[in-house]
Amino acid sequence: MNFIADIDQKNIAEIFGIQGELLRETVTYLSKNSPFYIERLKTQPDIKGIEDIARLPITTKEDIQKDNWGFLCVEKDKLAEIVATTGTTGVHVFIGLTKKDRDRLAENERRCFSYADVAPQDLFLLSVTMDNLFIAGMAYYSGLQRLGAGVVRVGPHSPKRQLELIQTIHPTGIVAVPSFLNSIYKQAEKDGIKLYSTTLKKAVLIGESIRNPDFSSNTLGKMVERIGSVECFSTYGITEAQAAFCECPHHKGLHSHPDLVYAEILDDAGNPVRDGEIGELVVTTFQVEGMPLLRYRTGDITFKITGKCDCGRTSVRIGPVIGRKAQKLKVKGTTVYPKAIENALLEIEGVENYVIEAYTGDDQADHVVVKIGTHYGNTSFKDTVCENIKAKVRFKPQVEIMLPQEVEKILYEGGRRKPMTFVDNRHKGLHDAQL
Ligand SMILES: [Zn+2]
Repeated sequence: MNFIADIDQKNIAEIFGIQGELLRETVTYLSKNSPFYIERLKTQPDIKGIEDIARLPITTKEDIQKDNWGFLCVEKDKLAEIVATTGTTGVHVFIGLTKKDRDRLAENERRCFSYADVAPQDLFLLSVTMDNLFIAGMAYYSGLQRLGAGVVRVGPHSPKRQLELIQTIHPTGIVAVPSFLNSIYKQAEKDGIKLYSTTLKKAVLIGESIRNPDFSSNTLGKMVERIGSVECFSTYGITEAQAAFCECPHHKGLHSHPDLVYAEILDDAGNPVRDGEIGELVVTTFQVEGMPLLRYRTGDITFKITGKCDCGRTSVRIGPVIGRKAQKLKVKGTTVYPKAIENALLEIEGVENYVIEAYTGDDQADHVVVKIGTHYGNTSFKDTVCENIKAKVRFKPQVEIMLPQEVEKILYEGGRRKPMTFVDNRHKGLHDAQL
């Protein structure tokens, strides 16, 4: 089967029919070509339709870590590109793409940009990295090319450099990580550059969520949407599935591409939850040649939205990612993800940096310590932090006020390149955790 560009205009029954066929095609292909799945699919269930997907085995990141090249369905010399993502233990997971897979990726991203009403006349600043085995930069680049739009590959260079290009070559859009876009806005404010009077009108954002579960903008979303003339579109990508979900101008969830990927939401026991209920996103790839995946657990917590979107498209949408499954905390009977605490902290003036630490208390329950880096070292500031967190997550965590440079040390401990804002010390106890 080939890519079906208008699949999101078909009715649900038709889409299910196509997906059933694609699933059969994928299972047959894997049981002939993938050393890993040949073993897993020894007793191959009879797949009549897409609903039979529940009878297939689950794949985890650990499976790929253990037997990375066992997933490869083609000879290595047929690969056109190898990308990587970091596994749970910090080990790389490699994903090999054939030429056809690269086309599929480009088609996926072309559709994402077209959902954001990007046209061939547009010119986009690509402010994410193209190198270091990252799939995203390459994916967005090829999507814009396939759409016929222009690209300026600036990468994540300094905000000053981005502003210089915005003023000299007049791009109409930008692809960036939300917090980086915010740094560009801050620099513009500092330099007295009025972004609303420039040509920049669209931002396609990756890597961080900008919406709350009710689709309203979260703290980061409000920050990047404060330049009213730049419309922000959230996207969510999964390297292993070589796929991305994206917002349309109605901003009510991230559209999937039903002929490229099938999305399920499962509970902890691996059973599907009802539409709209929260669980883990599990994806199956369609039309992948190099390393297709069956029911791959993404570790991301979200929900599924079925039914026609206001934009008229029928494709299944997923909600904003609420958190990572492995980071789920149960504090005083309340389920919370560190991301929700981070959202509360971003809103408080005076918080320069922070680290959230979880540990197991003597009561065997999860406890949270929030270390705040600030120059406001008084009690009323500490109270403000506690109240703000309580308003968002319904419990008061333990808060420690520190100097920003002390928090900085924890964030980059062990020579990390990226700050680690959540440290999971559960099952260690507070005393061990602090050693
Ligand atoms: Zn829509």
